[in-house]
Amino acid sequence: MTTPVRSKEKFLVFGSPAIENAEIQEVVASMKSGWLGTGPKVAQFENDFKTYKGAKYAVAVNSCTAALHLSILAAGLKPGDEVITTPLTFCATVNAIIHAGATPVVVDIDPLTMNIDPKQVEAKITSKTRAILPVHFAGRPCNMDALCEIVERYKLKLIEDCAHAIETEYKGRKAGTFGDFGCFSFYVTKNIVTGEGGLVLTNCEEDAARIKILGLHGMSKDAWKRFGDEGYKHYQVVECGFKYNMMDLQGAIGIHQLERVEPYWQRRQEIWQKYNQAFANLPIGLPAEPEPDTRHAYHLYTVMVDEAKTGISRDGFLNRMTAENIGVGVHYLSVAEHPYYQQTFGWKPEDYPNAMGIGRQTVSLPLSAKLTDEDVEDVIWAVKKVIKHS
Ligand SMILES: *Cc1c(COP(=O)(O)O)cnc(C)c1O
Repeated sequence: MTTPVRSKEKFLVFGSPAIENAEIQEVVASMKSGWLGTGPKVAQFENDFKTYKGAKYAVAVNSCTAALHLSILAAGLKPGDEVITTPLTFCATVNAIIHAGATPVVVDIDPLTMNIDPKQVEAKITSKTRAILPVHFAGRPCNMDALCEIVERYKLKLIEDCAHAIETEYKGRKAGTFGDFGCFSFYVTKNIVTGEGGLVLTNCEEDAARIKILGLHGMSKDAWKRFGDEGYKHYQVVECGFKYNMMDLQGAIGIHQLERVEPYWQRRQEIWQKYNQAFANLPIGLPAEPEPDTRHAYHLYTVMVDEAKTGISRDGFLNRMTAENIGVGVHYLSVAEHPYYQQTFGWKPEDYPNAMGIGRQTVSLPLSAKLTDEDVEDVIWAVKKVIKHS
């Protein structure tokens, strides 16, 4: 056994967020005010976020999963309706479709961009198809020209999973503003965080109002206004809704995280470029360069470990990196690898060969804005050590 690149005490946690004093103070202020639940800080976060993205309406919720679920409901989908999505995503994308009562249909990705392939989308459209749910994988925008054209031609709904794509742009337009709904995540590993948290962007006032109601028990008035000083107000339950509201404690974190979205993006871009340079001569696959006239959100830096070229399996690589005390991730095994979807929908990994191949070779390296130059050097050193000595 050689000495690991980092000591056990300094284990580099994958996706650890940068938390700074401003949000700590803001959370403390919320706690001292006694207003912990949905209130003015959530309203401010919604306002700041929709301004940042240039959208008309923003509704904050407690996760991106909830954002996706409510968007699909607000899109008016009914049982039996089909939603086309990608197999190279987190299970929440598919689960949200199922929770909304619709049927997920997955189509394979483009192996270079790792995003849903518009040609395959079109090939899977049936009389039951009602929506397309693309994921901007790793923060790289999907081919929105092609997807929007399909949406228009077949009169479909477009719901963007922007969990990786806060900063993403495509030909001057911001991710999450192309279709009917854009769904964001502020989970601890995402580009900005609120602990748990999510948000829906839409330009339709009616849809925003419906999502707000569905996210808070189906009650017709904002609950926090009920406890204001304007006298008691009765609420009416107009739908069977959910408990998906964001708390002010979360909004308090989000307000200050969002203020630093650009410097964080720049730091991740810098790390991304350092990795590209350092790994250029290694026998591993590196992420494709961002396309011209787009902005990549640099959410994930994924390398491909092909045992035939490296002499080490992907899982072997994961274990060796962990032994070097560097945390790594897998984004993602194709959803068709999971037993639930196989049993329920009959999906087989082989039916989506590009997602299967990438899912079995991919490794995500740490790419948090929190990483110091020393952390980045440690990651580089560990990767070289593992690849060269296998
Ligand atoms: C993280 C993630 C989600 C779920 O986000 P939560 O806020 O944890 O619910 C959905 N889709 C993708 C692609 C994700 O990476």
